[in-house]
Amino acid sequence: MSLDNLPGPIKDSIIAESNFDNYEAMPNNFSITELLYCLRKKYYQKTLPKKPVDLETAVHFHRGNVWDKDFSSKFKRNQIRCTYRCRNIPVSISGKFDFLDENNIITDLKSPADLFYVERAGTPSLPYQKQVRFYCYCNAIPQGQVMYWNGAKCLKYPVEITEQNCNELIEEIESRALILWNSLHDGKAPNRQLCNPEAWECKKCDFFTECNSEA
Ligand code: SF4
Repeated sequence: MSLDNLPGPIKDSIIAESNFDNYEAMPNNFSITELLYCLRKKYYQKTLPKKPVDLETAVHFHRGNVWDKDFSSKFKRNQIRCTYRCRNIPVSISGKFDFLDENNIITDLKSPADLFYVERAGTPSLPYQKQVRFYCYCNAIPQGQVMYWNGAKCLKYPVEITEQNCNELIEEIESRALILWNSLHDGKAPNRQLCNPEAWECKKCDFFTECNSEA
């Protein structure tokens, strides 16, 4: 993406918006999203100073925020926070879905930048499917979907929701929450083998240097 011609005031505003963070997570809470990606990275995010966001990432966030707010606000039930209390440790897991659509389907909007890859794969990534499954489980809603819209086309992918795959997901996120919880208590990043990051996660990771120097 070439952002060279973006006027200075727009660049400054987008960068400032992305670097302004007044969100205070609840104590003893992990987000469902952070548990589905590299736990080692989450450990660094939680224990090291926040790194400034670059312009390309900031533009990506900005576009997501604007579109999410605009679309979600067309539905009465939007930006709904869902929380699950772990059974194995004193931690809650939460996340927000975008809206419940006109057919009572939990809908999560994802970046239009992903549309090309999703079309090619024919399915959203597993973490995206698991996020929607988590929201459905927490709300006892039997249908969920991931939606992409890039201004030219809109694609919706249903997510399979069964008792079995919901139970498996809860087991998985509880065990991942335990790994992160133990690491934070011990002051030591989770073992890389426990995290199994995708190659792209390491490639885009802000903590690549810290992670590899520790290894
Ligand atoms: S470099 Fe890879 S393994 Fe290390 S924290 Fe980042 S995503 Fe995780």
